Amino acid sequence: MSERMLEPGEMRSNEPMSRHVSWRAGGCAARCYRPRDREDLRAFVQDQPAHVALHVVGLGSNLLVRDGGLDATVVLTHGALRASALLEQDTAGAVLEVEAGVPAPKVARLAAHAGLAGAEFLAGIPGTLGGALAMNAGCYGDEIWNHVQSVTTLDRAGVIRVRTPQDYSIHYRHVQLKNLPMTGAVASDGLLGAGLVATQTPRANEAAGPRALEPTPEWFLAARLQFARGSSATALQRIRTLLAQRVASQPLNQPNAGSVFRNPPGDHAARLIEACGLKGVREGEAEVSLKHANFIINRGQATARAIERLIERVQQQVWVTHGVALVTEVHIVGERA
Ligand SMILES: Cc1cc2nc3c(=O)[nH]c(=O)nc-3n(C[C@H](O)[C@H](O)[C@H](O)COP(=O)(O)OP(=O)(O)OC[C@H]3O[C@@H](n4cnc5c(N)ncnc54)[C@H](O)[C@@H]3O)c2cc1C
Repeated sequence: MSERMLEPGEMRSNEPMSRHVSWRAGGCAARCYRPRDREDLRAFVQDQPAHVALHVVGLGSNLLVRDGGLDATVVLTHGALRASALLEQDTAGAVLEVEAGVPAPKVARLAAHAGLAGAEFLAGIPGTLGGALAMNAGCYGDEIWNHVQSVTTLDRAGVIRVRTPQDYSIHYRHVQLKNLPMTGAVASDGLLGAGLVATQTPRANEAAGPRALEPTPEWFLAARLQFARGSSATALQRIRTLLAQRVASQPLNQPNAGSVFRNPPGDHAARLIEACGLKGVREGEAEVSLKHANFIINRGQATARAIERLIERVQQQVWVTHGVALVTEVHIVGERA
C-alpha cells in the first residue's frame, strides 16, 4: 500500500483513514478524494450520485473512523482549499479571507504577520479552518465564530452561498444551520446536527450505536474573519507563549485527538476523569493520558475499537462516580469491524 500523499485531483479506493486522522488509528474510507481547488470540489460534488455519502475531512484532528471503515467518499480539504487573502484594512482592524483547508495555526500566523491581534488562540488547534468552523473550535476564552464576518458554503447540489453568523445557531463546540430539517441520524453526529445532549447518559450514548452518515446539507469552503489591529511582535510572542503552555500540559508527542469530551457546564471533563483515578488506564494500546486526563493517546497500534472502548469506560466511570454524562467532542463515524 502506497504511503504517498493523495495528490490534488486524485481519488483512491480503500484509503486507510489512519493516514488522515491525528489518532493514527481506524478503518478505511471506501473512497477518498482530494480536490484540486474550490471549482474542482464543486464539480466533483455535483457529479456524485445521490446515494453516495460524502464526508468532508480537514486534518482529522477531531475524528475517529471505526475499524470496519466508512462506506462513503471522504473529501479532503487540506492541500485543496488553501487560498488566503488580506481584505479591507483600516486603522481598527482587517478582514482575512481564508479557505477551509488552511490549517488554523497558519491563520494565527497570517494574522500575526499582518499586524492583527486576536487570532493567536488558533495557533495550537491542529485542524483546518473548515474543521474549526464546523466545531466552533476555541480555547483561552475565545472561539472561531467570534471572528466570523461571513462564510462561503457548498451544498450537495453544487450551490455556493455566502452566509452570515445570523444563519447559524452557534454553541460551545457545536454549530448548526438554522431552520434545517433534521433527521435522527444527522442529529447524532457532525457539523449540522450535533446536539449538546446534556442529559444523555453513557447508556443512551451506547444505544445510539454507529452514527449513520447522512448527506451534510452544506460544507464550509471559506470564511471572512475579522481581527483588530495589533502588533506583529506581540501576537507572535503570544503564539509562542500559548504553544509552550500546550507542550507543557498536553501529550503532543503521541497521537491523540485533543479533548475527547466536551466540558460539562461549569466543570472540566479532565477534572472529573482524573478524580475517578482514570489517568493511565488502558484498553489495548489506547491510554488515558497521564499528562492530560481528557486526552486519549494511541501508544502505537491502538485500534479504533480500543479507543472507543476506553471512551465508553471513562463515560461509565464518570457517570457512576459523579453522576455526570460526558458527551464526546470527537466525532465517531463508520462501522464496527
Ligand atoms: C493536540 C490537539 C489539541 C486540540 N486543541 C483544541 C482546542 O484547544 N480547541 C478546540 O476547539 N479543539 C481542539 N482540538 C480538536 C481539533 O483540532 C478541532 O476540533 C479542529 O477544529 C478540527 O479541525 P479538523 O480540520 O481536524 O477537523 P476534522 O477532524 O477533519 O473534522 C471534524 C468535523 O468537522 C467536519 N468538517 C471538517 N471540515 C469541514 C468543512 N470544510 N465543512 C464542514 N464540515 C467540516 C468533519 O466532517 C467532522 O465532522 C485539538 C486537537 C488536538 C489533536
